[in-house]
Amino acid sequence: MGSESHQLHILFFPFMAPGHVIPMIDMAKLFAIRGCKSTLIATSHDEPTFLKSITKTKDSGYDINVVRVTLPLKEVGLPEECDNLNKVTTMEIRNQFMRAIMMLDQQLEQLIEKLAPDCLISDMFFPWTNEIAAKFGIPRLVFHGTSAFSIAGTECVRLYKPHKKVSCDSEPFVIPNFPGEITMSRMQLPDIYKEETEFTKFYNEVKESEKRSFGVVMNSVYELEPAYADHYRTFLGRRSWFVGPLSLCNKETEDKAHRGNQASIDQHECLKWLDSKQPNSVVYICFGSMANFNAAQLHEIAVGLEASGQQFIWAVKKDPDVEEGKEEWLPEGYESRIRNKGLIIRGWAPQVLILDHEAIGGFVTHCGWNSTLEAITAGVPLVTWPVAAEQFFNEKLVTEVLKIGVSIGVKQWVRLFGDSVKSERVEEAVKRVLVGEEAEELRRRAKALAEMARGAVEEGGSSWSELEDLLQELGQQKLAHNKKI
Ligand code: UDP
Repeated sequence: MGSESHQLHILFFPFMAPGHVIPMIDMAKLFAIRGCKSTLIATSHDEPTFLKSITKTKDSGYDINVVRVTLPLKEVGLPEECDNLNKVTTMEIRNQFMRAIMMLDQQLEQLIEKLAPDCLISDMFFPWTNEIAAKFGIPRLVFHGTSAFSIAGTECVRLYKPHKKVSCDSEPFVIPNFPGEITMSRMQLPDIYKEETEFTKFYNEVKESEKRSFGVVMNSVYELEPAYADHYRTFLGRRSWFVGPLSLCNKETEDKAHRGNQASIDQHECLKWLDSKQPNSVVYICFGSMANFNAAQLHEIAVGLEASGQQFIWAVKKDPDVEEGKEEWLPEGYESRIRNKGLIIRGWAPQVLILDHEAIGGFVTHCGWNSTLEAITAGVPLVTWPVAAEQFFNEKLVTEVLKIGVSIGVKQWVRLFGDSVKSERVEEAVKRVLVGEEAEELRRRAKALAEMARGAVEEGGSSWSELEDLLQELGQQKLAHNKKI
């Protein structure tokens, strides 16, 4: 039965991967701050992190909670610790992992029955949640977590198959029925477009369920990509609400420092280091939560950074089996040579805290959408180094449409492990983004976009207003639903 109160109750169901969870938690906070009751669904393993992330919002008096589901990992033959996409190493494990998630259907039904939410916002990877929401007569909204450019671009490739009309993997094609004459090559597309696999079928279901859903909530800003937002809405016919940048609901240092995970560096130490640097004089390097590089590639990055002569903060994934300072990729005597110039964070970096610091003048990124938007919001130009997923699309948006970044020049989509890039290219790209006239121009454009993005979430701004419209519509749905029961 629907709740009798006027307060909207939204159930948020994120996909178990940091790049999906982090913005969904931010979204739940945002909805709570705007007067809703927000309930987040977490797996047993993630529950403590979720609770920590919402503590401050909850303590400030907002109505936000976490409920738990148990992933049936044993039932699909996976070990208990394999509870997050960032622990999935093979296609086979990924398929098992996805199967375990689909088996959450009954637990979701029980939660909806018990909590009686007015709306379900669930991840794009949960197409089956459409039917469950429909069964309870509540709307389901989809959360993709990427740009309109990428959603619309990948959809135009899926529908019109331009990659089937070229003679080889490297031959460029223009994305058909897509604004801006954007060219891609087959090498830059995710596997699902290149060969028909189980996952292609699943992805088609994802798109079909998106069409049948109530609509899509976007972690983006309308004015950032208006041509692509319009294209998604009118040409592709998806109702969508642009309510980002979601990371902006983390206002205080404390919120930014603990976003997503426990940072591997003390926030005060990190800020002290940054405070000692001139504005726009440090490049930050981080490839998100999934992408991995082998020791040879990490070595090239290390050499390139040192050769650039620029200051840097570099987040490198920690290998628990190797002693700190003795890693294979680390050049001899490196850390003592770069002592005042470079800071290596082994493990989780407090990314938003770093990007928002005035010392940061550039960001070498894999173009995950969260990282890209966080940089835009901070007014930081990018060196684009896409690896997998839809990251090659985001690179195009950054370098060709927004013109706030330079490409490192990788050509090949590689699922999780980066394409190889020599140290000279790292050196050159870091210099290009930090010093000289080109860097000044990139920065000027990035700062203007940051101002626009920050303005969008202020009262009366576009993201603020789109969320207002969505809440009103959901309120009407709730009234209609309550009348029926
Ligand atoms: N992130 C972070 N510290 C890290 C690595 C990642 O805070 O050391 C955060 C980052 O701020 C972003 C998210 O993790 O919010 C990564 O999402 P993105 O879409 O950029 O990439 P993905 O991890 O999904 O590939």
